Amino acid sequence: MLRLPRLRYLRPGSAAEAAAAVAELGGRGALLAGGTDLLPKLKRRQLEPDTLVGLGHLPALRGVRGDAAAGFELGALVTLAEAAAHPGLAAAHPGYAEAAGLVSSPPLRNVGTIGGNLCVDTRCNYYDMTYEWRRSIGFCLKKDGDICLVAPGSPRCWAVSSSDTAPVAIALGATVTLAGPDGERELPVAALYRDDGIDYLAKRPHEVVSALRLPPAGGVGSAYVKLRRRGSIDFPIAGAGVALSLDGPAVRWARIVLAAVGSRPVEAPAAAGLLAGRELTPELVAEAADLAARPAKPLDNTDLTHFWRKRMVRVVVEQAIERAAARAAGQGHRPEISTPA
Ligand SMILES: Cc1cc2nc3c(=O)[nH]c(=O)nc-3n(C[C@H](O)[C@H](O)[C@H](O)COP(=O)(O)OP(=O)(O)OC[C@H]3O[C@@H](n4cnc5c(N)ncnc54)[C@H](O)[C@@H]3O)c2cc1C
Ligand code: SF4
Repeated sequence: MLRLPRLRYLRPGSAAEAAAAVAELGGRGALLAGGTDLLPKLKRRQLEPDTLVGLGHLPALRGVRGDAAAGFELGALVTLAEAAAHPGLAAAHPGYAEAAGLVSSPPLRNVGTIGGNLCVDTRCNYYDMTYEWRRSIGFCLKKDGDICLVAPGSPRCWAVSSSDTAPVAIALGATVTLAGPDGERELPVAALYRDDGIDYLAKRPHEVVSALRLPPAGGVGSAYVKLRRRGSIDFPIAGAGVALSLDGPAVRWARIVLAAVGSRPVEAPAAAGLLAGRELTPELVAEAADLAARPAKPLDNTDLTHFWRKRMVRVVVEQAIERAAARAAGQGHRPEISTPA
């Protein structure tokens, strides 16, 4: 059995205090929300802080506020199960609720938070292993080693962005509120990520994601389609978040963001641009899906082969465009509303 190391636990009075504590600790401190990603990583010694700064007791980070007309503000501690089951949210932004409901499995969705999901570590078959396993192969660039085992000639880490909710949040134009010791700032979710498997977040390391803001629904249809080996538990190995608005039968605008095919969520602006101003036909959707798959660069470091994952990108994009368009046209396809256990 893997054990947690001995750790100090701090219980700050606010998000600003939590940020101040992490800033003071430097690399020795880590923010803890639901712990569903962080705690297994501590057991496997992938991360080695000596102090955890808890957020879970802060009421200001809880709750879903707003409505379809005004937009929604979700506290960072809203659980994935709560986001997936919120009737107003699921009606206004079905793609976001769908993505939250597809993360992992019910027990983890009851504990894992939407803030933790946006900040979830990048993944790689050579990294998400026990300390002993990683030591047996000489470690890698992301932790304790000096070469990338997937691309040995590369100076960078290619670990995979594996958040299910980030792509659709970006497609919807969502923003996050970041709390620092001296105040808050707002950042588009699209600007939260860097294309680097190690330094994958563009926020300052001590900043706390305190809330996620989703815009007014305004006739926008959204969808998230996820590819994984099993119907539950597994992280995405490809995925597509799509938001679009219709003007009669034509697409007014669209935004397409891919999951799990790079070190950050990957936008496909050329494919989205192809749809704008044109009537959706099966041929156009297929053409856009082909175009969307081009920026996807899956490597051989997650489940199943990267050749097949690359080919499947166009399939998930096609499905997500069709589903988002049906929702924008008011033709249903609402996500199932699951009841939290
Ligand atoms: C078996 C298994 C399967 C999983 N499957 C999936 C999956 O399919 N899809 C998926 O997306 N994820 C998956 N996960 C990962 C994880 O469960 C989710 O991403 C979850 O939403 C993480 O939220 P959390 O609150 O538990 O985060 P934590 O584990 O508490 O934190 C995760 C990271 O985010 C940081 N963090 C947390 N909250 C904040 C905040 N408010 N501000 C700043 N930083 C913060 C932490 O410091 C840490 O680095 C899986 C995990 C396991 C163990
Ligand atoms: S992509 Fe390379 S450096 Fe990054 S975790 Fe995997 S093997 Fe390590």
